[in-house]
Amino acid sequence: MNLREGFIGAIGNTPLIRLARLSEETGCEILAKAEFLNPGGSVKDRAALGIIEDAERSGRLRPRGTVVEGTAGNTGIGLAHICAVRGYRCIIVIPDNQSPEKLELLRHLGAEVRAVPPKPYSDPHNYQKIAGRVAAELPGAIWANQFDNTANREIHYRTTGPEIWRDTEGRIDAFVCATGTGGTLAGVSRYLKEHNAAVRIVLADPMGSALYHWVLDGELLAEGSSITEGIGTSRVTANLQDTLIDSALRIDDQHCIDMVYRLLREEGLFVGSSSGINVSAAVRLAADLGPGHTVVTLLCDRGGLYARRLFNPNWLREKGLTPPV
Ligand code: PMP
Repeated sequence: MNLREGFIGAIGNTPLIRLARLSEETGCEILAKAEFLNPGGSVKDRAALGIIEDAERSGRLRPRGTVVEGTAGNTGIGLAHICAVRGYRCIIVIPDNQSPEKLELLRHLGAEVRAVPPKPYSDPHNYQKIAGRVAAELPGAIWANQFDNTANREIHYRTTGPEIWRDTEGRIDAFVCATGTGGTLAGVSRYLKEHNAAVRIVLADPMGSALYHWVLDGELLAEGSSITEGIGTSRVTANLQDTLIDSALRIDDQHCIDMVYRLLREEGLFVGSSSGINVSAAVRLAADLGPGHTVVTLLCDRGGLYARRLFNPNWLREKGLTPPV
């Protein structure tokens, strides 16, 4: 029998999908790891598992304890599933501008959802800071702290990186993805660079994020804004710290949306906005590298989480974007 042990055993080992049309167009192999096929529906199932298991091992999280997190949604969804399996209470602090589908799903999963107004990281009412305070005030609670808890990048170093290396048989020229906490990029890139220092690591950044300039000239500087969720940041998190990044690409919302629709119409893949940023960046990178290279990226979550936004032409128009025809 080839079994996986419960929800937790089903996390990881996601397929690496060859994107046929984009590969033909670029003359490169454009490969996308289908993280939306994790059992909670996103790449963040891995971080949620890494963080909870680390807290259990260290004794910080005890039976019937509480897990508190500030999250744009997907980490909360992963945590809520795992808390259900392991018998923990789950409290999620989320900015109230995130997609209604994510908030609804979190409630269905049994998490206690506290939706708060979005505030910059420097503000004491920022959702991450509120989560830290809620955990500190509640006996038996831990703060998952996905941004600065390096158990996040560790699990990508132990699982996502090795899976990419195994499935490409080491034939990979570049890895590109957007970052929220930085856990995925940091963990995957460390594993790949250890196995072949020549693998090019590229950060894909939405508008409104400060990392594009940080990678190119060392200065945290944000320009513009973006409708993407879960990616882009104003600071260098502990997870991102010390990551070897060779270059950065900036992708605007219209290119992101166009790619999300192309992925659905040409490849049959129904994914969210960070996947649009990632695949757009992979195609740009392939054009820079020239034919004959292998570029790997991630499909982070499903389009259904954003159905009323990304797949609603009126919403897109309100945001100044042109719905693809
Ligand atoms: N895509 C989506 C949809 C996400 O929710 C996140 C995490 N917030 C990311 C990408 C970025 O992953 P990481 O936190 O590992 O940088």
